[in-house]
Amino acid sequence: MGESQSRIQQQISHFMSFLTANADEDTRREFYRINLHRLVLIGPLFFLMELSLLPLDRYLLGVTLVVKIFLVLNVLVYPFVYHANKHQDRMKEWSIRLAVYAYILLIMGLGSGLSLKGLMSTDLVHVFLMTIVTIAIFFILPALDHLILILLGVIPYLLIYPHLLIHKEIEFVIINNVIVFALLSWLFGRLVFTMNVRSLITSRTLEAQNRLLADLAIKDPMTGLLNHGASQERLRKAIDRAKQNEGSLSLLLFDIDDFKGINDTWGHLVGDEVIRKIASAVKDSVNVDDEVGRYGGDEFIVIMPHTSIQGARVVAAKIWNAMDAITVPDTDITVTLSGGIEVLIADEKLDTEQAATDMVAHSDIKLFKAKERGKNRFISEPVA
Ligand code: GH3
Ligand code: MG
Repeated sequence: MGESQSRIQQQISHFMSFLTANADEDTRREFYRINLHRLVLIGPLFFLMELSLLPLDRYLLGVTLVVKIFLVLNVLVYPFVYHANKHQDRMKEWSIRLAVYAYILLIMGLGSGLSLKGLMSTDLVHVFLMTIVTIAIFFILPALDHLILILLGVIPYLLIYPHLLIHKEIEFVIINNVIVFALLSWLFGRLVFTMNVRSLITSRTLEAQNRLLADLAIKDPMTGLLNHGASQERLRKAIDRAKQNEGSLSLLLFDIDDFKGINDTWGHLVGDEVIRKIASAVKDSVNVDDEVGRYGGDEFIVIMPHTSIQGARVVAAKIWNAMDAITVPDTDITVTLSGGIEVLIADEKLDTEQAATDMVAHSDIKLFKAKERGKNRFISEPVA
C-alpha cells in the first residue's frame, strides 16, 4: 500500500516536472537561436503563402483584407527577426524573445484572421486549430511563454468568433474545440521542450567527454604538456608547415640534471612536484606559437616554428634562467638542465619523417654532449 502510494507520488512529481520543465539561460539562448533560425527560414515561405492566397480570393470567402493586413505586418516584423538572428550574441535575452514571440503571434494572428473571416460563411475553425498545434511542434517554448502566447491567440478569438458565426448551433462545439486544442498545443509544447532539453544535455555531455578523450590522447596527465606521441606528431606538422613556407624551425630537447638524486633524497612525490614546476616554468618561457612536450621521464621537448638559431637561443636562455626560481619548501633543491638545440631550414623536397627523426637524434647527441661537458648548459653548435 505504502509502496504503491509512493509510486503514485513519484509519477505525479514526474508529471509535474514535465509540465514545469525549465532551462538555464544558456539552454534558453540555444532554443531562441533554433527558433530564430526556423523563423528566418519560415518567414519568406509564409510571405509567399500569403501572396498565393490573394488570387484565390473568390474561393476563399473574401479573405483578401486579412491577407493584405498580414502581408504588411509580415514585412514590418520580419526585419526584427532577421536582425535578432544575425546579432543574437550581442542582444539581450528579452529583445530576442520579443522578436521570436512577435512573429509567432503574427502567425497565430493570420491563422485566427483567416479562420474568423471564414466563420462568416462556413466553419473554418480548423485553420486556427492547426495554427496553434503547429506552433507547438515547430518551436521550442518554455511553459509560461507558451501559455501566454496561446492565451494571446485564443482569448481574442473566443471573444470575436460569436459575432461572426453564421451557424449559431455549433457555437459550443467551437469553444470546446478551441479550448481542447489550446490545451493539446500546450502539452505538445511541453513534450517538444523536454525532449530538446534532454537532447541538448546529451550532446553537451558527449562533447565534454570527447574533449576529455581527445585531451587524454595527446596530453601527459601529470604536467598537461604534450605527451611523447603528440610531440612527435606536432614536430612532423611543424616541419610540413616549414616546408610550405621554406622557413626555419627550431627544436630544443633537454633533460633535468641529476634528477635521480632529487628522487633518492626527497622522495618521488617531491620529484613529481619538481617536474610539474619545471613544466609550468617552461610553458611560461616560450613564445605563443611554440609547443612544449614531456618527451620522457625527465626529458622535455620544445618545438619552435619559424624560429632561427638566434631565436631558439633566446628561448633556451629564458628557460635556463627560469630554473633559478624553482624551489620546493623545506628542501634545498636547485634545478639545472642540459639540452641540445637543432635548427632546420626547410625546403620543399625534404622528407618530413626523416627530418623529424634527424632533428630529435641530433639534438639528443647535443644533449648528451652537454651532460658530458659538465651539465647545466644548452648546446646549439654542431658537435663531432
Ligand atoms: P642526468 O643528469 O644524467 O640526467 O642524471 P639523472 O639523475 O637525471 O638521470 P636520468 O635522467 O637518466 O634519470 C631520470 C630519472 O627520473 C629516472 C627516473 O626514476 C626519474 N623519473 C622519471 N619519471 C619520473 C616521474 O614521473 N616522477 C619522478 N619523481 N621521477 C621520475
Ligand atoms: Mg636527467
